[in-house]
Amino acid sequence: MSTRIFIVEDEPSIAQTVQFALDAEGFVTEHFPTGTACLAALKHSVPSLILLDIGLADGSGFEFFRHIRQLSEAPVIYMTARDAEIDRVAGLEMGADDYIVKPFSLRELVARVRAVLRRVESSPVPTTSMSDIFQIDTVRRQIHYHAQPLDLTLHEYRLLETLLSHPERVFTRGQLLERGWDNPDHRLERTIDSHIKSLRNKLREIKPDTDPICTHRGVGYSLIPDA
Ligand code: CA
Repeated sequence: MSTRIFIVEDEPSIAQTVQFALDAEGFVTEHFPTGTACLAALKHSVPSLILLDIGLADGSGFEFFRHIRQLSEAPVIYMTARDAEIDRVAGLEMGADDYIVKPFSLRELVARVRAVLRRVESSPVPTTSMSDIFQIDTVRRQIHYHAQPLDLTLHEYRLLETLLSHPERVFTRGQLLERGWDNPDHRLERTIDSHIKSLRNKLREIKPDTDPICTHRGVGYSLIPDA
């Protein structure tokens, strides 16, 4: 599988140069001119690493970092223009994996990217085995069902993760909404039903004769992993 790198940078010339250098190294890159565009993409794709400019046109990279972390565990390297920001980066301790000061050489950039990727790849993957049937990889935001990867949307992933966190416990729609949505609107509790439906369809594609999700009429849902 190719290593995908998101580049969040509002200056086209820098973005192009970085993209060119990383493409030449065999990485697959995607460029986002705004933090908002990157967040939108993270709802349906999982990059291996994110290069995040601190001074973006639509907000600060620090602020976007917090939002990125709600959607993705991918390592982040800050790209900062001013020396003064280094102190802030160090002081913030916001969990970014590294930072690089502009103007940087492309060799240095590639070396940093490789170093961070190596570090992440060599650390143990916190795969939680719920049972023989479900496995969750929280870093890659991936759930396997009967050893097959499920292709889930963000909300489907969060729903299934919640249900798997306490097998057999009944979650109300409200509880599922609270855990799965960033800005839960309780008037929309019925939206849970349609997401459960699509989740069930995806599980059924792998194992047509079983349904591990139980409906509790008027209440909510639970999950029995080895149903
Ligand atoms: Ca900038």
